[in-house]
Amino acid sequence: MKYDYLVVGSGLYGAVFAHEAKKAGKSVLVIDRRPNIAGNVYTKDVEGIHVHVYGAHIFHTNNKKVWDYVNRFAEFNRFTNSPVANYHGELYSLPFNMYTFNRMWGVVTPVEAEKKIAEQRAAAHITEPKNLEEQAISLVGTDIYEKLVKGYTEKQWGRPCTELPAFIIRRLPVRFTFDNNYFNALYQGIPVGGYTKMVAKLLDGIEVRLGEDYLKNKDVWDAMADRVIYTGAIDAYFGYSLGALEYRSVRFETEFLDIPNFQGNAAVNYTDRETPWTRIIEHKWFEFGKDDGGRDLPKTVISREYSSEWKPGDEPYYPVNDEKNGALYQRYRNLADREKKVVFGGRLGEYKYYDMDAVIASALDMAERELG
Ligand SMILES: Cc1cc2nc3c(=O)[nH]c(=O)nc-3n(C[C@H](O)[C@H](O)[C@H](O)COP(=O)(O)OP(=O)(O)OC[C@H]3O[C@@H](n4cnc5c(N)ncnc54)[C@H](O)[C@@H]3O)c2cc1C
Repeated sequence: MKYDYLVVGSGLYGAVFAHEAKKAGKSVLVIDRRPNIAGNVYTKDVEGIHVHVYGAHIFHTNNKKVWDYVNRFAEFNRFTNSPVANYHGELYSLPFNMYTFNRMWGVVTPVEAEKKIAEQRAAAHITEPKNLEEQAISLVGTDIYEKLVKGYTEKQWGRPCTELPAFIIRRLPVRFTFDNNYFNALYQGIPVGGYTKMVAKLLDGIEVRLGEDYLKNKDVWDAMADRVIYTGAIDAYFGYSLGALEYRSVRFETEFLDIPNFQGNAAVNYTDRETPWTRIIEHKWFEFGKDDGGRDLPKTVISREYSSEWKPGDEPYYPVNDEKNGALYQRYRNLADREKKVVFGGRLGEYKYYDMDAVIASALDMAERELG
């Protein structure tokens, strides 16, 4: 055996494990089938703008251990996620807060806003919500539902809210304060220089081979290492022998524009049903000061996001956490438990939606168990 560990996948999970293994004195080889490192947090430098190629990524966490860990590999800027909702040209602050309520109803105080929502809830007479529409109205009333929830959710899921189960939205964050910070997280930011630079630092001094698909030459790769950390899709590992796990996918249309400022914010959500995209990301605002009007760089890059049905072969994004897929995953999990040499981890290996901080925490836990 040439290596102690073969790590399949150079995303956050694989890169964190590889770093810890090297630190523990182990020999490590990382492979990835993509031409670049960093998995889904890959950012590409386009004329000084770090484009989030696989969707906008905002680092946010309440986990101090993880925050301290990532700060060893990157300096984080002070980006705060404050998306704007565009409903047929009417702009609203997100998450729903006093600015939203003032724009929606002209109310000024929290008491007035709470009263308005309570009135609309009561008027809807919903005691046991039977679908997502009823659930949303019973949480935030009809106006917010109609303008800010309905269209966006229907585009995201590709189905009317009346046909979606209520459990998808257990709660909708409503704040009776003037706070546009989307996340309830103590720590938040974007790595200066992009995520790829941060992952490159994690992988510093570790052999990485790109453009290599583990599953195409599994026996050869397996023969090279004592242990395998596999962060690819669990169903693909077993040749989809029990069937394919389902995902929701996203399609990105990226444009380079010769103007300094397209929308004045990193994220604008289009909450009406008629606009085909769910949101537009303007990448430069993740990194540059919010007040420079783009004067430093007379160009910008935007990505329109379209939510789409996933079919085998598409990039998998969001696991579908329903009963059918949960049960299928469990059957694959049972097979995985029998693979004594292989550890399955990360969002694809565990068929789980993980935020970045959670995937790092999970990789660190696994490294502790694995490396002692
Ligand atoms: C659209 C979107 C937006 C998101 N936004 C946020 C956000 O704002 N904040 C946040 O905290 N989290 C966000 N996340 C979650 C974040 O992307 C994940 O937590 C993180 O990327 C998971 O890392 P990973 O290493 O598990 O998987 P990945 O990054 O997917 O890495 C897996 C790697 O394995 C490689 N691989 C797979 N199969 C093989 C094979 N057979 N051979 C070789 N290599 C293989 C892949 O090419 C890939 O590079 C978002 C996720 C999505 C989908």
